[in-house]
Amino acid sequence: MITASTVARITSPASAGGGDWRQHWREAVTDPRELLSLLGLDGLADRLPPDDAGFALRVPRGFVARMRPDDPRDPLLLQVLPQLAELDQVPGFVADAVGDLAAREAQGLLHKYEGRALLIASGSCAINCRYCFRRHFPYGEEMAAAGQWRQALEHVRQDPSISELILSGGDPLALSTHKLEELTRGLAELPQVRRLRIHTRLPVVLPERIDAAFLHWLAELPLQKVVVLHANHANEFDAQVDAACAALREAGATLLNQSVLLRGVNDDDEALAALSERLFAAGVLPYYLHQLDRVQGAAHFEVDDARAAELMAALRARLPGYLVPKLVREVAGDASKRPL
Ligand SMILES: *Cc1c(COP(=O)(O)O)cnc(C)c1O
Ligand code: SF4
Repeated sequence: MITASTVARITSPASAGGGDWRQHWREAVTDPRELLSLLGLDGLADRLPPDDAGFALRVPRGFVARMRPDDPRDPLLLQVLPQLAELDQVPGFVADAVGDLAAREAQGLLHKYEGRALLIASGSCAINCRYCFRRHFPYGEEMAAAGQWRQALEHVRQDPSISELILSGGDPLALSTHKLEELTRGLAELPQVRRLRIHTRLPVVLPERIDAAFLHWLAELPLQKVVVLHANHANEFDAQVDAACAALREAGATLLNQSVLLRGVNDDDEALAALSERLFAAGVLPYYLHQLDRVQGAAHFEVDDARAAELMAALRARLPGYLVPKLVREVAGDASKRPL
């Protein structure tokens, strides 16, 4: 259970920068020129694509603070900076790479895999990751409207095989804690649901989100709790992210991480091993390493399967088995993520 000291640590001005997490959210950097200027890279401004290549730059200032200044190859910067290469039309890279986005949006609930149902709880994110399929579907924030929840939860209620509910998005922690409470009140009527899983990048990119009210909500949930973080590089962690992870664990959550294999960001065994070690130091186990969704504008991030297999072999040779993530690809129509 969560302790007073954790709450104090995570909400103290010294660790959290003070203030409401929404304020940090609003104060994110959205102008690529400002981002380059903060990093001493003003010289790169003439290589920016017009109109952010159709997907706005967004990055919380705390995440910017973890980037190395003066380094155009910084692995955190490369995840968020619009690039001219995004304008290239590459065969096989399409807008709807996952195939069922329209259905996701309309229904808000995705029941593809046995025993697990996934609720698109929110369409927004604190950070815009250039490789994400979401770049073509900046869907509104209304997925979480109470009416839609009721419909989705009603579907779950009628299916006794669903024992795990997954909150995903966008980022479900974009919702206020009040909204999350509203959602989980509905779960009380679903006795077959034993686990709540939350897929979120916020504890890493905006750790201020893990505040006392949120931790209280999480700790009180009468379910088993799994939080799947999304970090791609060891440098995404700092003391404040560590504190957020510790607080999540003390609130009773099992912490896992999923990453995306990204050329230039984490496509060497040194970087991937360092990520696994850093995750474990924060109390998080590596879960999945995803091959990129082949989404238009992200082709320059792709690592081919042969190279990916080589990297996995190198990781197995140097890490304990529990620190080796599973390499997978999402293939429409499969009964699970496809192991590679
Ligand atoms: C990825 C995913 C899940 C979770 O799959 P796990 O292998 O259990 O992590 C569940 N539902 C949908 C629709 C998914 O895309
Ligand atoms: S859904 Fe995840 S990967 Fe995509 S933009 Fe949001 S935080 Fe980034």
